[in-house]
Amino acid sequence: GAASSGGLVAYADSNSDDVVGKPQGHPKKKVVVLGTGWGGTTFLRNLDSRLYDVQVISPRNYFAFTPLLPSVTCGTVEPRSVVEPIRRILEKKGGDIKFCEAECFKIDSANKKIHCRSNIGTNLDGNGEFLVDYDYLVIAVGARSNTFNTPGVEENCYFLKEVEDAQKIRRNVMDCFERASLPYLNEEERKKNLHFVVVGGGPTGVEFAAELHDFVTEDLSKLYPSIQHLVKISLIEAADHILTMFDKRITEFAEDKFGRDGIDVKTGYKVVKVAKDAITMQNPATGDIAVPYGMAVWSTGIGTRPFISEFMKQIGQGKRRVLATDEWLRVRECDDVYAVGDCATINQRRVMDDISEIFRVADKDNSGTLTVKEIQDVLDDIYVRYPQVELYLKSRQMNGIADLVRTAKGDAEKESVELNIEEFKKALSLVDSQVKNLPATAQVASQQGQYLARCFNKMKDAEENPEGPIRIRGEGRHRFRPFRYRHLGQFAPLGGEQTAAQLPGDWISIGHSTQWLWYSVYATSKFLNFYNMKVLKVQNNFLENAKLGAA
Ligand code: FAD
Ligand code: MG
Ligand code: MG
Ligand code: MG
Ligand code: MG
Repeated sequence: GAASSGGLVAYADSNSDDVVGKPQGHPKKKVVVLGTGWGGTTFLRNLDSRLYDVQVISPRNYFAFTPLLPSVTCGTVEPRSVVEPIRRILEKKGGDIKFCEAECFKIDSANKKIHCRSNIGTNLDGNGEFLVDYDYLVIAVGARSNTFNTPGVEENCYFLKEVEDAQKIRRNVMDCFERASLPYLNEEERKKNLHFVVVGGGPTGVEFAAELHDFVTEDLSKLYPSIQHLVKISLIEAADHILTMFDKRITEFAEDKFGRDGIDVKTGYKVVKVAKDAITMQNPATGDIAVPYGMAVWSTGIGTRPFISEFMKQIGQGKRRVLATDEWLRVRECDDVYAVGDCATINQRRVMDDISEIFRVADKDNSGTLTVKEIQDVLDDIYVRYPQVELYLKSRQMNGIADLVRTAKGDAEKESVELNIEEFKKALSLVDSQVKNLPATAQVASQQGQYLARCFNKMKDAEENPEGPIRIRGEGRHRFRPFRYRHLGQFAPLGGEQTAAQLPGDWISIGHSTQWLWYSVYATSKFLNFYNMKVLKVQNNFLENAKLGAA
């Protein structure tokens, strides 16, 4: 049956090759999606695929539920429970989306083509390379682990980024225990094999250290009773604290808990070299120390993939570290290319760059001054276009723009105050300090994927009516509201069924039940079924905890 959507006739059974009835003269635009992670998959799940000819390209034919990867390293969760085949996701969705297991190695935005390579088969030229053209390109390729070019890391460390990484870690932990049990080793060598070093005190490193500790104390101690006292876990962090992106109370709780658990937390140490047998770290007070180790897991952050860096050079973003988009997730200086998730960052427009335009739009009566009411009338638009304004007012505990105006004028003024352009500039001069980069998280990537799909679903509509509801606009024809991130909280599993949560509104919670709330934040259809019941059961408890822990 045919359904109508956005003025484009679309067909529910469009997966047949039957061309009869295809809209004449309106061939579907071709959307190419790179990546099947959080950003790419959420985009696909939400896209009205009847409107486009969609082609997905990714070297992984599955989606991975990354929040559970640390649990795969110690066998708490099986690898197959954290992946969902992309073909099954597409099949469930219906429609005609093509998938191709390959990686893109070059983007040619001038000719709207991408260069791809398959790693599982070759073409007639023997190299597995092929070209794909697009009308719209959605880049959702994520990031790579960053070694900061530290010598020996690539060769000697384990990473925790992909499902394969987690499986490798799991095998190697066991190898370390078996090696330490070999008859010909002396005590020193056994100790070395059982020294597990985690580099990087961010959420992933901390969670892995906690998982490993639980695994060792709960399971392995029974299997290897004669050597279990030789196990040591070290967590090395260059900053003064671990989990620096969290509230101080959570950081302290985590450091204390790890202390009690016997995990050696070394803050203020920078790893400068990883050799086969020893890891060298540096601290201004102690200088270089080389420590023997059995296994090292490197988790210090992420960097840009090389082919994205190349692309950035091509489009004049060579000086940047991360691919920049505007607030509608359009790659800057590049038509019809969008980017979501860890591979990109939003370049938020500054109020100060547009201050005269904002003033002109707000000054409806052309009086050359703004009344509180005039500002009030455009405030919602300003908040949408420049979220930093709202953040700024909140951070100053101001109740609204009237407070700002009064402050700008010096206190005790009446309703009748008016601001000229200079005073208006001064009032808003500090708001741009509230512009912050979004974190590299699944929450951000999936919200961006969803947002972008909604824009694509209404693209035709928007092209016909570019003005839309937003009056103070940036460059370009776009009637959509800019992307706005909704922070649902931040979670740090700390082992022993303890999870710390930092929720919007300064709620802090640490406890067992928090964990299920944590899963619920990331729950996609499959994983929701998984955790649903438990989430419901603990939500009430959780709220009690949260109240107790609030600042
Ligand atoms: P990804 O999910 O990494 O997806 C990238 C996709 O692109 C993959 O399918 C990849 O195969 C594909 N790809 C790569 N190169 C190419 C190429 N050349 N061509 C085509 N496709 C390519 N975030 C949270 O919010 N909460 C958590 O609890 C959490 N825990 C985490 C735990 C671990 C161990 C890790 C590693 C990350 C965790 N994250 C968490 C972060 C979160 O996983 C990322 O922020 C998120 O995956 C980013 O989504 P993305 O789509 O940008 O990239
Ligand atoms: Mg992705
Ligand atoms: Mg992913
Ligand atoms: Mg990003
Ligand atoms: Mg006026």
